[in-house]
Amino acid sequence: MNSSLIVVKIGGGDGMNYEAIAHDAAQLWQDGTPLILVHGGNAELNRVAEQLGHPPQFLKHPNGMTSRLTDRRALEIFEMVYCGLVNKRLVERLQAAGANAIGLSGLDGQLLRGRRKTAVKYVENDKIKIHRGDYTGSVESVKETLLMTLLESGFLPVLTPPALSHEYEAINVDGDQIAALIARTMQASALVLLSNVPGLLARYPDESSLIRHIPASRVEQTLEIAQERMKKKALSAAEAIQAGVKKVIFADGRVDNPLQRALAGEGTVIE
Ligand code: ADP
Repeated sequence: MNSSLIVVKIGGGDGMNYEAIAHDAAQLWQDGTPLILVHGGNAELNRVAEQLGHPPQFLKHPNGMTSRLTDRRALEIFEMVYCGLVNKRLVERLQAAGANAIGLSGLDGQLLRGRRKTAVKYVENDKIKIHRGDYTGSVESVKETLLMTLLESGFLPVLTPPALSHEYEAINVDGDQIAALIARTMQASALVLLSNVPGLLARYPDESSLIRHIPASRVEQTLEIAQERMKKKALSAAEAIQAGVKKVIFADGRVDNPLQRALAGEGTVIE
């Protein structure tokens, strides 16, 4: 599509400056930059799940990664927080800042389709076990025509998981993967991943060890540096670059003017 498209993933960790992000996004949108926002909601989800008496549970996979266990009740709470609280908070702030934001989940209009993984392998007491009945999966396709229609009609899309499985169920999919998939499919000029850290840190959590630049040809480096939760983000970034997205920026979503700063080269720039 439009080579000037910017896709922004707004992380769901504590400390994100929604007000500043909305302000910057609205500014860009008003200046005519095509923009698509995707958000998470991790920290808020953990809090609400605790309050509703269904505390978060995580599975440790044989490859060392962890993921959220999403049974039916967890999926319902996930939808309340992501499609409700976090999505509408962002839409409200964007509207107040002057952008005609429209909030959509991956279910709406079959915007995001994916594959449900009903059986998930996990490790417990050094043994590999299988958890069944999970509502998680991976996102595989995006309905580009719907996003194009929205952009051309002057809306600013604000997107959230879940995605719609091939069997028409809601599935919890990773927000970074969604943003990277959209950036790849629509050949965005930049993918910005805003999080509650200044960027990719060589010695996490030491914020002074920020890596400023990684050449696109050496994007695999990000996978070696990133740990735990950052690993998934790094994987999405690498896939985006390898699929032709010009630039991926890992930047701080806690500061004032987070998007302007990211686009001016603060954070970790891969290009
Ligand atoms: P979000 O919800 O913001 O999309 P995640 O919480 O999934 O993001 O991932 C970001 C987190 O990854 C950071 O808050 C930090 O705790 C962790 N992290 C792990 N390794 C690194 C690293 N090398 N550099 C930066 N952050 C890292």
